Amino acid sequence: MSSQIILNKISTLRKNKVPGQVIIQMTDHCNALCPQCGMRKTAQFDRTKLDKDKIKKIIDKAVENGVEAMSFTGGEPLLFLKDLVELINYAGAAGIKYIRTGTNGFLLRSGTSQDEFDTRVKRVVESLASTPVRNFWISVDSADSATHEEMRGFKGLIQGIEKALPLFHEAGLYPSVNLGINRKLGGSYTENCYKPEDEQDQDYYQEFLIQYRKGIEKFYTFVINMGFTTVNMCYPMSVQNSESDLYSVYTATSRDNIVNFSNNERRKLYEALLDIIPQYRSKIRIFTPLSSLYALKRQYEGKSALNYPCRGGVDFFFIDSKDGQTYPCGFRGNESFGNYEDMDMDTIDRKAFCTKCDWECFRDPSVLFGPALEGLNDPVGLFRRHANESRFFELWRKDIAYYEACDLFDGRKAPNYAKLSQY
Ligand code: SF4
Ligand code: SF4
Repeated sequence: MSSQIILNKISTLRKNKVPGQVIIQMTDHCNALCPQCGMRKTAQFDRTKLDKDKIKKIIDKAVENGVEAMSFTGGEPLLFLKDLVELINYAGAAGIKYIRTGTNGFLLRSGTSQDEFDTRVKRVVESLASTPVRNFWISVDSADSATHEEMRGFKGLIQGIEKALPLFHEAGLYPSVNLGINRKLGGSYTENCYKPEDEQDQDYYQEFLIQYRKGIEKFYTFVINMGFTTVNMCYPMSVQNSESDLYSVYTATSRDNIVNFSNNERRKLYEALLDIIPQYRSKIRIFTPLSSLYALKRQYEGKSALNYPCRGGVDFFFIDSKDGQTYPCGFRGNESFGNYEDMDMDTIDRKAFCTKCDWECFRDPSVLFGPALEGLNDPVGLFRRHANESRFFELWRKDIAYYEACDLFDGRKAPNYAKLSQY
């Protein structure tokens, strides 16, 4: 990183700001059947798609606001591949540095003739590789192929993705596999662990921890064998069963048991991830920061006083496809900021406070920027926090070094396994 870039980052942090992020839900149309999501194709509601010119206005305003990261999400963005490519190109030309999008993989599935597969996949690979997209994620829900394909409602997904990955790599795009944590992630290991009748049943949680450790290992091994070089995990959302006032505008949630975990289960889930991730960091680039997992685990142990709150509604925003309005995130749907293009960022309350959900898109970067932000704006607070939570800072330093070794997860670069081998 050049010294000028570092100075710019410090100057941003000094203003009590972290580099901005905007997630644009370009559509809620979807063709998949995922039980974990309210946008599955069988869900009954009026589907929407944001107007392209509206999105371009949002992009222009985001650049003016110094936003560095932008995601185009769905629904299924690749249902509108041509528009998506146009918008990514527009955002890149406008100056957005970190552009992300993803797919459920329907355009990559196998099962038809080789010629048809080649033509279809080549079109996707060439279209996306020609844009400045930095990170392209492909969802995989389970370490068991049949389970994943049943959940998504497409046959031939896993085999098709395996065949497509080398083509992406040849074109200079290294897709990330994205797992929305669910009870079937580890196949037979995890699918039978369901909430105990008695919340205090310690034997259940011990078994849960053992099974999820095995399940997570199985998942990482599975996606490495598929040919992925990067992996991310979305933590389970608590919107639907929480006592809080959250109202989800981003309906990538469900009441289905498959994604509902009790607070005690979450504690064990994050513990399992903390145990397993270090064993796989040298084999595949893993986005999930240990410091964030540790903070979430502490939160579910009732010890969150020293956690860094989420920057949703402060530096990070969500644009909903239904009404084109801006929200602090996809889950504080009662707090519309109106049109992003009309927002005056100087009037935003810059005090972050929220820890109401585990949405990794906003929670992870909030934790990662937390110490630097605090160090520059409240060094005494940082010193106090460090004195009380030295384990968190130990993990945070490791995360920063690991992120550096992963080229900040640049999806346009092959992994450097020599660097990763130190982890
Ligand atoms: S998780 Fe994604 S692919 Fe599945 S139904 Fe929801 S929007 Fe569609
Ligand atoms: S923690 Fe972040 S993403 Fe979750 S509800 Fe609060 S602001 Fe939204």
